[in-house]
Amino acid sequence: MRVQVQGDPKILVSLEEGQEWSVSDRVKDGDTQDRERRVKEWIRLGIHRVFQASYNLAPSPWGTLTGVRPTKLVHSLFDGGSSWHQIRKTLLEIYALSPEKADLLVDVAKRQRAFFHPGPNDPIGIYVGIPFCPTRCSYCSFAAYPLNSHGHLLKGFLSALKLEIEAVGDLLGELGLEVESIYLGGGTPTTITGTDLNKLLSLIRRKLFTSETTEYTVEAGRPETLSLETLGILKSAGVQRISINPQTMHDETLESVGRRHTVEDVHRAFTWARQVGIPIINMDIILGLPGEGLEHVEHTLREVGRLGPDNLTVHSLSLKRASRLKKSSDGVHIAHSQGEAMVNLARDSALSWGMTPYYLYRQRHILGGLENIGYARPDYASIYNVQMMEERQTIIALGGGGMTKLVFPDRSLIRKANPKCPATYSQHIKDRLVEKMDQIRRHILE
Ligand code: SF4
Repeated sequence: MRVQVQGDPKILVSLEEGQEWSVSDRVKDGDTQDRERRVKEWIRLGIHRVFQASYNLAPSPWGTLTGVRPTKLVHSLFDGGSSWHQIRKTLLEIYALSPEKADLLVDVAKRQRAFFHPGPNDPIGIYVGIPFCPTRCSYCSFAAYPLNSHGHLLKGFLSALKLEIEAVGDLLGELGLEVESIYLGGGTPTTITGTDLNKLLSLIRRKLFTSETTEYTVEAGRPETLSLETLGILKSAGVQRISINPQTMHDETLESVGRRHTVEDVHRAFTWARQVGIPIINMDIILGLPGEGLEHVEHTLREVGRLGPDNLTVHSLSLKRASRLKKSSDGVHIAHSQGEAMVNLARDSALSWGMTPYYLYRQRHILGGLENIGYARPDYASIYNVQMMEERQTIIALGGGGMTKLVFPDRSLIRKANPKCPATYSQHIKDRLVEKMDQIRRHILE
């Protein structure tokens, strides 16, 4: 491989006798950053081509793109003045994406533009992390502490969270900040029930809602946490979106991954949620769970389709180091072609239900090198999901494992994490609050 970096950069790759591939382009005069970026992209592409040719590898649909948030690249090209047509060409020629993935990225990015605001701090988003779950799923890498072993920490956690909600609420008033969306995640927030849940949701409403708050979401991923009483509390508190996540509609798989709920629980929770009038219901499914093939996914999608959620989030299994499944010998491996067939099946189902893709992300160690995609029926997309993924809006995160992101007008950002462990959170959050509020205050005012 020859790399010419003087003048207009050029990369020349000799694959074998007489077979060559090259790329060159003009860079903006004197723009060293542009030159460096392009040279890096082309070298990556050159190496990609060499490996593909040398080992006779099938082309990866994501080409040389390895990041978690591929749509950010598309937005930055669009902000830099490229047309959608030029962006698609760049994705194909410089990043070696397959036409399907290039079209998907452009399609999602176009849809997301309607969610963007001129500045990162007006309005902002709020995340509240509740790091408890009924049990821990074997593929889980989130802040999720099983209630049976960590339930004694709940009371202290809720007291500490109350302090943080009050402090952030006061700061919102002091700085005149508007909040666009509030998202309770975790964990499974509906692990909290009865009076505790009622008090928490009322406090959030009182302290964190502003005149521009248009979205209130509570992750209720584990259907066994949803009783009619809990759903009634969510509805009375004004929650507009919940997630009821089957992950699969097969009882054997659910048991094998430690979810301890049944398909029947999913049906019951969904029916009750519609009955009490929760306006928007999302369902998550995971492709590539242990022991599952295409026919399992087909069945799951058929069952989900019969329930008729407003959003569908399709995850390709990703085994991170913190998950039990990764550590155990029964980790799963699946051929890329099979993973892709599952992804396509899920896409076709979502499209046939009138949904379109509106956000996507990738993870390390993800099934077959694929992606996670959120689909929504028209006007049912989650504002928070778009803002959190595209990192163009400041998100203040409270609670266990919450990651605050302070975004600057040039789209650089500072991250600040809350402790994941409920015991550490409860012990330390009071001491950290002054510093955290100061940092947010400086960010907004400077
Ligand atoms: S429900 Fe979600 S957060 Fe809770 S243990 Fe399972 S994967 Fe983790």
